[in-house]
Amino acid sequence: MPARKIFVTTALPYANGNFHIGHIMEYIQADIWVRFQRMQGAEVNFVGADDTHGAPIMIAAEKAGKTPQQFVADIAAGRKPYLEGFHIRFDNWHSTDAPENHALARQIYRDLQAAGLIETRTIEQFFDPEKNMFLPDRFIKGECPRCHARDQYGDNCENCGAVYAPTDLIEPYSALSGAKPVLKSSDHFFFQLSDPRCVAFLQEWTQDGRLQPEVANKVKEWFSVRTNPDGSTSEGLGDWDISRDAPYFGIEIPDAPGKYFYVWLDAPVGYLASLKNLLEKRGQSYDDYVADPQLEQYHFIGKDIVTFHTLFWPAMLKFSGRKTPDAVFVHGFLTVNNGEKMSKSRGTGLDPLKYLGLGMNAEWLRYYLAAKLNGRNEDIDFNAEDFMARVNSDLIGKFVNIASRAAGFLTKRFGGRLGTPDADGAALLEALRAQAGAIAEAYERRDTARAVRETMLLADRVNGYVDARKPWELAKQEGQEAALQAACTTCIEAFRLLTLYLKPVLPALASQVEAFLNVQPLTFADAPALLGEGHAIGAYQHLMQRVDIKQLEALFEVPAAAAAPAAPAVNAAAAPAAGAGAGAATEPPGGEDIAPTITIDDFAKIDLRIALIVNCEPVEGSTKLLRLTLDVGEGRHRNVFSGIASAYRPEELVGKLTVMVANLAPRKMKFGVSEGMVLAASHGNEKAHPGIHVLNPWPGATPGMRVR
Ligand SMILES: [Zn+2]
Repeated sequence: MPARKIFVTTALPYANGNFHIGHIMEYIQADIWVRFQRMQGAEVNFVGADDTHGAPIMIAAEKAGKTPQQFVADIAAGRKPYLEGFHIRFDNWHSTDAPENHALARQIYRDLQAAGLIETRTIEQFFDPEKNMFLPDRFIKGECPRCHARDQYGDNCENCGAVYAPTDLIEPYSALSGAKPVLKSSDHFFFQLSDPRCVAFLQEWTQDGRLQPEVANKVKEWFSVRTNPDGSTSEGLGDWDISRDAPYFGIEIPDAPGKYFYVWLDAPVGYLASLKNLLEKRGQSYDDYVADPQLEQYHFIGKDIVTFHTLFWPAMLKFSGRKTPDAVFVHGFLTVNNGEKMSKSRGTGLDPLKYLGLGMNAEWLRYYLAAKLNGRNEDIDFNAEDFMARVNSDLIGKFVNIASRAAGFLTKRFGGRLGTPDADGAALLEALRAQAGAIAEAYERRDTARAVRETMLLADRVNGYVDARKPWELAKQEGQEAALQAACTTCIEAFRLLTLYLKPVLPALASQVEAFLNVQPLTFADAPALLGEGHAIGAYQHLMQRVDIKQLEALFEVPAAAAAPAAPAVNAAAAPAAGAGAGAATEPPGGEDIAPTITIDDFAKIDLRIALIVNCEPVEGSTKLLRLTLDVGEGRHRNVFSGIASAYRPEELVGKLTVMVANLAPRKMKFGVSEGMVLAASHGNEKAHPGIHVLNPWPGATPGMRVR
């Protein structure tokens, strides 16, 4: 059977920031699949690229005082430590601003035009008269037409969730200049997705079994009803606006000076551009490669960009006369410690470079993510305790330790030579080999959770065998040489098979094991064979450390800059420039610098409520705490401990209103559970400026009102 020819990509990261853990998860998922395919003998090209175009990058570059080209080059330069650090082996990393992408995007557009699927329409759009540019929705702000919240974006309200057009905003202004935008008409190009040819093709393509069922079902809805920007609904697919007016960092549209492709038109073309760049570097023909009818094409993506990859992208390819993807593999989001979503804009929580910098093993994370990912479009959570348990108990306790339990006896007593397994050992190995097909099948379906689970069940059986044989006892007994060698041989043969089954997930560990076992790189085709009697293994060296809880604590420790954003060095340096004698001016307000900027989203997560202090009493055994009984209008009372005993006598507070954080996770303290936090002001330097001042609302506020 000829080898499968496979072309694989991950989604292209937007080049306005470093990778976050969500990117790393997707790359690890794809890398595992690619490594598995290669172990099956497939010829795979696995490529990535930076997604470089669009208004946000143009604006960020301007702010940074760089050209957009410089800006994205600087981002690209930072990619390597992440990819190498986590053993993510792309064959090529390119850029959507590369010449290949300009040429391919323009050609695809021309082909779509020739197919009669591009239409020009005049639309009215907000224009910033000071910046002299049309404003993207996200750069127009104003008052929400529904709830009248101020400073809302042009496409939806973060306060009430309303979706609308920028022209619906009350008193709109440009987020770039503050100017009042004017309506200006402009010619835009549309890709006519509503054309019956496109609709018929996409209905077939998205429902013929190539997409995950949960994704196909979601996509199906878009053919019947869609939501317009103004919140109304329409039947069927809408046409897609693919052009933007200058100034824009992107690819100029052929025969349309001053018009550029919308970034999402040329971004997926970057998959092909990176492939072309790779093949040409190798002296291969791109045209021949993509013309091969046997070529399979797959894209790994997150659930937030399904529309682009299941409607726009296949239609662009189909009607420009190109091959369409064989499948699009969609994954959910990664949350950390049941916390926030790892979206593009909020990549905090688990910093991948910090993880590596703490000396944490990249393969712990690969193993953990593999154990959670099942090939379906579902969110998964990184949980620190679960992570430690799975790595220490399963990966190391069940798997890695098998080698250490057997290898020493073989090298010390038998010159490293394997013998013949005993009857139980032979049966065990047969059972292990019999699972190769099922495990390969699980990898093929990206159900790495199943591949890992099945492998760990086999590891349990091997450990059961070791516990029954007790090689450490056989080693002490006279005349048990053969039994000892047979038991240790079984362990090593089993360890080779388990390593093979985990190799796509643990490539570095597998390579260490291959060296230790004196074997060629393991492939799934090897599973039926055993090393056999007389095979000599090398000396065992420790393969993997356990996770130390201190590493996890350090990983999730809030950076000092955010916890106590005192930046004395910066202030000291700035002081002379600010003028001598202005010592007081260098003192940060309230004794500490303003914390790093957060978005309105971040603030909206904190639910502040007016609370009535129903009761207040001292806490026995504590000089700092007072126990407060609070009413926030929920029909029940809350118990809150507050470190304000030095400032207030309990009776001063009873009956007063204050402000509390009402959605803080309950905290178990020495004296009981605290169900929230009362707000109080204090100076950053408490010793020099003592005093705590509990917040008290103006008259009229009542318990339960939200503070916003
Ligand atoms: Zn609103």
